[in-house]
Amino acid sequence: MTEKLKGIAGSMAAGKTDILIREARRCEYRRKNIAAFKPIIDDRWGSSDTIKSRSGKEFPAVAVNTPLEILECVQQLIAMDRKPDLVAIDEIQFFSPEIVDVIQVLLEADIKVVYAGLATDFRGEPFGSMPTLLSLSDEIIRPTAICEVCGDEATRSQRLINGEPANYTDPLIVIGDDEYEARCPKHHLVPGKPQPKINR
Ligand SMILES: [Zn+2]
Repeated sequence: MTEKLKGIAGSMAAGKTDILIREARRCEYRRKNIAAFKPIIDDRWGSSDTIKSRSGKEFPAVAVNTPLEILECVQQLIAMDRKPDLVAIDEIQFFSPEIVDVIQVLLEADIKVVYAGLATDFRGEPFGSMPTLLSLSDEIIRPTAICEVCGDEATRSQRLINGEPANYTDPLIVIGDDEYEARCPKHHLVPGKPQPKINR
């Protein structure tokens, strides 16, 4: 990758992590050093020391609680004469806003960064630091999934609680069956979502 900052943004099940792992592997084939990270919150697929895609691809990664831990880890690698050429970060939408500063510091140290994340949350609104990161990226990849209702291209993540579309104001932690499906914009349902405030 020639770009300094590359973003992979999409809905769930769009293959974001597959693309992230491909980027890391390509760098590896070129005998470059790679350091991969993910937030500790992401233990969907069990293992805490790898980035794992739905299709089963895996790449070794360090699970961290905060963006600063990424910086600390990279500084340790530099001290051991193993400076990474590329830092890969999965599920970046879950990190606190300091992730933007951490990435700037990495780029200034001449380290390339590739990240993957959900562009929008279950409400269909920008997720965490994704809008800022995408605007700073040299290249953006926008993979789509398949809508589970109509088969069209899905760009949204539909949240279902006990099989029904989650309400705009539903808390993120619920008692019951909390599921997500890839959906196209037409079939992305968010009851209670405020309408755009424009006089029409
Ligand atoms: Zn659809």
